[in-house]
Amino acid sequence: MGRYSGFAAAAAALIALAVPAARPAAAQAADPVLAAAIEELATASRILADQGVVDAYGHVSIRHPHNPNRYLLSRAIAPARATAADIMEFDLDSNPIDRRGRDLFIERFIHGEVYKARPDVNAVVHSHSPTVVPFSVTQVPLRPVIHTAAFLWPGVPNWEIRDAGGVTDLLVRNGALGKALAATLGDKPVALMRGHGNVVVGKDVRVATRRAIYTEVNARELAIALGLGGPITYISAEEGAFKDKQASDEARAWDLWQERVTKK
Ligand SMILES: [Zn+2]
Repeated sequence: MGRYSGFAAAAAALIALAVPAARPAAAQAADPVLAAAIEELATASRILADQGVVDAYGHVSIRHPHNPNRYLLSRAIAPARATAADIMEFDLDSNPIDRRGRDLFIERFIHGEVYKARPDVNAVVHSHSPTVVPFSVTQVPLRPVIHTAAFLWPGVPNWEIRDAGGVTDLLVRNGALGKALAATLGDKPVALMRGHGNVVVGKDVRVATRRAIYTEVNARELAIALGLGGPITYISAEEGAFKDKQASDEARAWDLWQERVTKK
């Protein structure tokens, strides 16, 4: 991998010097694994928009398939509009590798700092998932009530940006804030961000996307259950841990979501 990466980087640098605009297409054509990962990431971005997890804001990233010290994230555009051509590469301090004048997401530090803290994580979603936010500003814990969100069983911590940054505009504008958020996330799949949204992680982009979607769905179902009143029967820790070990038909959901966002 090292020798290949070195060669690829050198070749890409030469191409970049000669024809800057041609670099992404040329590099991707030479690397089908990277090209497929980029395509899948752009698809995930559009799926998250289609499923109502992100709106004009929010973003999804993946760890670079060949370099664990890099990640891939689109330039700053609405997630529904992302295509493979918009995907950029960053180091874990969230510096772009080859910016070429493109706008960057202010909150990209969420991604870099989570990848530093979590070697098991290869995909990160940050969203303002609407039904999740009320659970970040009240004392009502976000716990799983629907089996598709059983992965929330370890608990969902709520990050208070004031503890790390005092008075802010609530945006994760630097590595220090991103690091504090990653510390609150700990080894969990999801952390809330007070008055803002959440961060959702997974071993790959399909898992992170599915978790982000069903965290939103679970918040909706739980809010309805709370409105009905009376004691609530949550998914237990034992049930959650048991479900984590079961095989599930994840491709069916992904294929459906993908079809909805793929132009014919
Ligand atoms: Zn945000």
